[in-house]
Amino acid sequence: MDQAETVRTPSSWVVVGLDNGGTCNNATVLDATGQFLVDNLVENPSRVLDGPESAVEALAGAFANILELTSTPLSLVRAVGLDTPGPASAHGVISSKGATNFNQVSWHGFDIRGALEARLGLPVVYNNDGNAAALYAHHQHFGAAAAANSSVSAIVGTGLGGGVVEAGTVIRGAAGMAGELGHVQIPLHGVLEDDQPVPRCNCGFAGDVESVASLTGIRNNLLPYWLTRFPDHPLAKEPIATAAKALRGYGEKDDALALAVFGQQAKAIGKLFTIAANFTDPAAYFLGGGVVEAAPHFRQWFLNSVREATDLRDEQKAVATFALVPDRDMAGARGAAVAALNTVTPL
Ligand SMILES: [Zn+2]
Repeated sequence: MDQAETVRTPSSWVVVGLDNGGTCNNATVLDATGQFLVDNLVENPSRVLDGPESAVEALAGAFANILELTSTPLSLVRAVGLDTPGPASAHGVISSKGATNFNQVSWHGFDIRGALEARLGLPVVYNNDGNAAALYAHHQHFGAAAAANSSVSAIVGTGLGGGVVEAGTVIRGAAGMAGELGHVQIPLHGVLEDDQPVPRCNCGFAGDVESVASLTGIRNNLLPYWLTRFPDHPLAKEPIATAAKALRGYGEKDDALALAVFGQQAKAIGKLFTIAANFTDPAAYFLGGGVVEAAPHFRQWFLNSVREATDLRDEQKAVATFALVPDRDMAGARGAAVAALNTVTPL
């Protein structure tokens, strides 16, 4: 990769975005004019499995590295945006029960935002990764009109994340739990087959969006059912976890079982967006996650299927946009940076 073409130097003050994941941190720099200085993914080991102290040092290392890469003096940095997987409070305190990436006892109730702020000596703004991706999708799509618009993003991965953006700002909620779109329960009529068991989610709910529209939902609920309808399918011979991950490849080849499963996912997301239409009536509905990396004809079919399953009124159809979330790998770091920029220059 030619870094001369993919990295620029700042012409003004900047904010830094840090996306903390299970194995890597991804970092970016955003200048005061809204330009990202890095076009590519810049990753460093996150060391979250070594506990909070190591992980905060790794974040500080990622911060120093991205400043060096972009030749940005520390004195130009006004704020830092941080995102991590949840569950965490609105201000970056990891759940007292821990979380998938933060299961050591030392992580339980750990204030990762406060710890990084103390370590860097700069203001740190926190979002969970779904909200950061939603914020990036919103700002990328609307640009200068971000503050005048609203959106809802559904990000399909291992679970279903996302966020609700109103007037350019993420809705956080009283306990920081707004926009947990995966755990919104949806009407299943028109989604499930007559003889299909009601899908269950790891959160304890039955029939929420994540129980259908996630890799976990495919593995635990949809694929076991659909394999009974396609007993001779090649995936019937595979372990269920392997088969679930392989399903998207079959979808790209228009395999009937795969299209049945992804069709149900699209309908579930459409039901969620129908709730959103009657709740915040957003200007845009964004779809992200692994599907964005799929073959263009398949991801377009999926997006179209979601749109068809979203029941909008004529007035809403006239103004609403459906789009894929861009730059999947960088969406977290970029959204974290946008959140930081918004604290320096409020919308
Ligand atoms: Zn759930």
